[in-house]
Amino acid sequence: MTKTENLVIIGSGPAAWTAALYAARAELNPLVLEGEPQGIMLPGGQLMITTEVENYPGFPDGVTGPELMQKMKSQAERFGTRARMEMVDRVDFSGRPFTLVTRGGDEVRARSVIVATGANAKWLGLPNEERLAQSGGGVSACAVCDAALPIFRNRVLAVVGGGDSAMEEAIYASKFASKVYLIHRRNELRASRIMAERALANPKIEVLWNKAVKEVLGYDQITGLRLEDTVTGERSDLEVGGLFVAIGHTPNTQFLEDQLELTPHGYVKTRSWRTATSVEGVFAAGDVMDDYYRQAVTAAGTGCMAALEAERWLSHEGVGESPVLETADAP
Ligand code: NAP
Repeated sequence: MTKTENLVIIGSGPAAWTAALYAARAELNPLVLEGEPQGIMLPGGQLMITTEVENYPGFPDGVTGPELMQKMKSQAERFGTRARMEMVDRVDFSGRPFTLVTRGGDEVRARSVIVATGANAKWLGLPNEERLAQSGGGVSACAVCDAALPIFRNRVLAVVGGGDSAMEEAIYASKFASKVYLIHRRNELRASRIMAERALANPKIEVLWNKAVKEVLGYDQITGLRLEDTVTGERSDLEVGGLFVAIGHTPNTQFLEDQLELTPHGYVKTRSWRTATSVEGVFAAGDVMDDYYRQAVTAAGTGCMAALEAERWLSHEGVGESPVLETADAP
């Protein structure tokens, strides 16, 4: 006899824990499959490598990313959420109950699923970049999250990238920085015209064309960048007090294979202002379905939406009117 879960939530960032909190309080007895540590990324998502979070409401003195995640997890567990540190390797959404197979080979059956696996910022892949990003040494992949922090204020900052994200990050960082170097590897921006024009017109932003970052300099704190001209090969050092890497994101959807409809950029496609996906009973929340806002608070908001939608859907399917704690189905 294999137990069929009412609701399995895949992920462990703000979207996942908020979904779990709402689902647990609705007595759906949710199971969270949190993932496993992988290189720079830990279960808990992007916030696990964020030192200070100053823009999550309710924390007037700020909170560290890992502490915020621990508090969210504890709050969800207080109402009965069960969490397992396991990675989902593949899913089968072609029939009900849905099947999820973990990396360890366990099969989990679920009446409904919330996919909240987030998106990882792309990094340049330089050793000091990763180290300083983890230690809060002035390297970040999100200016909107971090540029207002004291360590970035009134400093000369650099933003790497030539797409809309880089324009947005540079414009945002310019509010706090004394100057922003926008470093792009080509002599033409990929960004939309309106975003590019806005960045180029900003008096604090200077574009360094045809430049690749070869090394991040500094020990406790970033002090500069070693650049290489992509046309001439010439090397030069640039003094900066902070670096924002804005070269795109990768949504964590690989394990879904072709089971859910995705957007052209690989994010889970949901209905407008809803978290329902192309498969009935499967919902998506947080950065895995949002390539626009990408904030902890918006992820938490969509986690709440997904849990409410899942609860209503399950109730329509006859689950959840009364507390359903355990149901045994034939395998
Ligand atoms: P993107 O459009 O893929 O741009 C990534 C940029 O990073 C490109 O300029 C690319 O250079 C550069 N890059 C990639 N790998 C690099 C590397 N290893 N070293 C140096 N540079 C590297 O990604 P995005 O800017 O995150 O945008 C993703 C999508 O979200 C787009 O559709 C965008 O329009 C949308 N978006 C919209 C807004 C907005 O409208 N407000 C804001 C953010 C994002 P190359 O150009 O040479 O390839």
